Amino acid sequence: MSTDPRRRVPRTDTLLADPQLAAAAGRLGRDLVKAAVQEVQQRVRDGAVAPDDAVGAVLAGLPATPSSLRPVLNATGVLVHTNLGRAPLSEAAVQAVVAASGTTDVELDLATGRRGPRGEAALAALREAVPAAEAALVVNNCAAALALVATALGGELVIARGELVEIGDGFRIPELLEATGARLREVGTTNRVALGDYTRALGPGTGAVLKVHPSNFVVRGFTRAVEVAELAAGLAGTGVPLVADVGSGLLRPHPVLPGEPDLQTALADGADLVLSSGDKLLGGPQAGLVLGRADLVQRLRRHPLHRAFRVDKTTLAALEATLRGPRPPVQRMLAADPAGLRTRAAALAARLAAAGLDAVAVDAQARVGGGGAPEHPLPSAAVSLPAEFAAPLRAGTPPVVGYVADGRTLLDLRSLAPADDDALAAAVLEVARRWT
Ligand SMILES: *Cc1c(COP(=O)(O)O)cnc(C)c1O
Repeated sequence: MSTDPRRRVPRTDTLLADPQLAAAAGRLGRDLVKAAVQEVQQRVRDGAVAPDDAVGAVLAGLPATPSSLRPVLNATGVLVHTNLGRAPLSEAAVQAVVAASGTTDVELDLATGRRGPRGEAALAALREAVPAAEAALVVNNCAAALALVATALGGELVIARGELVEIGDGFRIPELLEATGARLREVGTTNRVALGDYTRALGPGTGAVLKVHPSNFVVRGFTRAVEVAELAAGLAGTGVPLVADVGSGLLRPHPVLPGEPDLQTALADGADLVLSSGDKLLGGPQAGLVLGRADLVQRLRRHPLHRAFRVDKTTLAALEATLRGPRPPVQRMLAADPAGLRTRAAALAARLAAAGLDAVAVDAQARVGGGGAPEHPLPSAAVSLPAEFAAPLRAGTPPVVGYVADGRTLLDLRSLAPADDDALAAAVLEVARRWT
């Protein structure tokens, strides 16, 4: 028998029968472990791994979970970062998701044993959170809510030219609306629109008047918009519904964001329907919220397309827990006191400096993000490190995403939960350790 280790490549069955690898297959699935086994067998053949070390090499190469999405520490200062999954769920919402992810009574009345209205508890929580709403509906996201409105109310949609906005990643609201077959009737100019522009555009084919919050830019100078209250008064008696897309999902006016529209005020001011995302400032799961007049909500609910935009049981669970449970992270970040942020930054910088790093605490400006409140920087504080830290921090475990400005890596603390400060410090120290 040859002593060449390459001839003694352990058999696949033998490796998969190893208790540690069998346990890993139970957690990760047999296919994933088998692929890792085959990779290591090749490395044994190549002489890079000793046959006796094969099990250890397979274990070392296995991921922690079968999903490749990983938790990331958000030190960008952007509270609702679309590329980082927008709002982090509250602990209560995470638990609700876990509880609902098995078999659950999302559409069954356990008292009678009959089918019940789907997600009724989440809808009730929404109606209670926005008392001006007669009825509520939840769909996949705000884009789906817009598409459903455009399809179900349809015909011609009257909209101000200055509100034909692009939200991000090429997502243009007018293109979405037209994709449903609705016709757009643009009124006013880029910078100015008046009530008469809207009322003159109404006709027998009008399906709705749509007001879209231009959430990621501002027009300054010689401008004029028609606010919901004025528009609602002007449409009174015409029978044409006024639909307001407020985007961010604030339930009520927020003291920190005076310019940001909210669901309750838009309805109280006379909008017939209001739309928003669930995962921006509301701080919940990805969802599109539709609230307002019961007859219009019913029309949307009965439309065949509604089924295509339906949300999952875990979304309904997370939404209800976000509305009824403790304040979710995004709302705590929004309310964070700048002095407290500076204290955290100083403590972190002192810890890192004590370990010999070039780390200082600096003032910074955070942002809402997710296409919200573009003109409203939030006073914040950051840990400032040499620029070379940015890339290795992103590649670490957990990855840390900050930003580089003026030749320094800044780690903004407003977008990070205080409970993650220790993990942030550890990640920075780990990068420094690997360098020395
Ligand atoms: C973000 C945003 C949308 C899109 O919302 P999604 O939930 O991402 O589909 C639509 N309208 C406005 C005004 C927005 O700000």
